[in-house]
Amino acid sequence: MAKARGAIVVDVEGCKGCDLCVGACPTHVIELSRKVNSKGYHFAYMEHPDACIGCAHCAMVCPDSVITVYRWKPAPKPREATTA
Ligand code: SF4
Ligand code: SF4
Repeated sequence: MAKARGAIVVDVEGCKGCDLCVGACPTHVIELSRKVNSKGYHFAYMEHPDACIGCAHCAMVCPDSVITVYRWKPAPKPREATTA
């Protein structure tokens, strides 16, 4: 079965840089940015986006619910055309 793919979107201004999502991600997708948001927090971002499987662990642990998760499965390979 094809591996699920995923992506996250972090509400940068709502992130407090608590680091919980970084530790919760099983595939080490997330890191804290060197940049800061307008409140001075180092916000979370996808350092390794190709590794995201859309498991939503990060969103579940985020105390401020600022992570949105998208998940999809790769399209199956088209079957060979058959002739009658
Ligand atoms: S959805 Fe899962 S794999 Fe993707 S960043 Fe969040 S914890 Fe990591
Ligand atoms: S768990 Fe939420 S608030 Fe904490 S660093 Fe991750 S996105 Fe930011």
